[in-house]
Amino acid sequence: MTRISNGENASAVFDLGLMQIQISANTAAERNMQTGVQPTSLTILPTYKCNASCRDCCFQSNPRLSTRLSGKAILDRINEAKAKFPSIRQIIFSGGEALLLKGDLHDAVRLASELGLGTRLVSNGFWGKRQQTSEAFARDLRTSGLKELNLSTGLDHQEFVPEESIVQAAAAAISQRITTLITVEVDSAESKCLESLLAHPSIHTLNNTGLLRIISNSWMPYDSSESARHAPNSGTQLRKGCSQIFNNITIKPNDRLSACCGLTLERIPELDLGANSGNNMRELYDAQQDDLMKIWLHLDGPHQIISASTPGHLQSKLDDVVHICQACTLLHRDPEIAAYAQAAAVRMMPELITRFTIRVEADKHLKRGVTHVQP
Ligand code: SF4
Ligand code: SF4
Repeated sequence: MTRISNGENASAVFDLGLMQIQISANTAAERNMQTGVQPTSLTILPTYKCNASCRDCCFQSNPRLSTRLSGKAILDRINEAKAKFPSIRQIIFSGGEALLLKGDLHDAVRLASELGLGTRLVSNGFWGKRQQTSEAFARDLRTSGLKELNLSTGLDHQEFVPEESIVQAAAAAISQRITTLITVEVDSAESKCLESLLAHPSIHTLNNTGLLRIISNSWMPYDSSESARHAPNSGTQLRKGCSQIFNNITIKPNDRLSACCGLTLERIPELDLGANSGNNMRELYDAQQDDLMKIWLHLDGPHQIISASTPGHLQSKLDDVVHICQACTLLHRDPEIAAYAQAAAVRMMPELITRFTIRVEADKHLKRGVTHVQP
């Protein structure tokens, strides 16, 4: 980890393994107040348990997992996030399959709505099997205050939840005026899940409501022995800065805070920010701003970091990478790549901090709507 830790007299020490560089700077909390970097969303992963067990699930979810956040812990974390981060606008519930929490999920959605926050639920649509059941699920979600539903499907998902359930779940949600996004994992050479969904007779009608969107997302193999499926736009998506770091915080089923809800978060220990105590979320969030690698991830993303800091033979390891979070795993887990990247971060420290500060300041102005140019 490329970490800036607080030294004496509130100056900062950039800690890069064995190397420490002290510079004139403030504590993380003080810098935070100066730069104004703030999260805009909280993701809650209340459980990794899932009724499905997709082959390449990033969390290796399955019906046998039991670790989960209690209903009380979920409500407490929402209240704490609202109190400590006025910038948070939306709570995202994902998993695993969050709907397995039944009443606890509805209570959480209701609380977030009552606090004036937007709500989004990510689900595999298992509840769309029968029309009556799907309508009851959608009605309950609407009553709780849910604003957005994201349904995940594709070749692997459809081994457990068929296309028809996805269409029925989408129809039920839209009938309750819940904005719905269907995300289809990129097809293999043999599969045509996206084509089939787009040709489904109900989809055209649902499209006309203006409440449905369908996208095809990058698909990432969990096991590297699986062949990769390339998304048409994966090149552009891969080379961007990470939009999660600093903008989103995530609570995991073991009640620990994570810097992102990226697909590979459980494979990168550096993304774990620490255990929630009930009143330390702000401190855990602020402390990550002492990590120079997170600043670089936010600015340029893992693909660009590897490209910019490693020799050619290591850059070739990016050839099979199809997802930004896959590049992130490579950056943190490959010892040679990590060493080159950390050394580069030391060399580039003034540049990275300057760019980060300018970026955050510029974002503040954009949020305030300062957009005109005086002639
Ligand atoms: S539906 Fe989603 S969470 Fe469940 S096993 Fe499949 S990929 Fe994992
Ligand atoms: S790129 Fe890394 S930091 Fe960003 S979401 Fe993916 S795993 Fe998390």
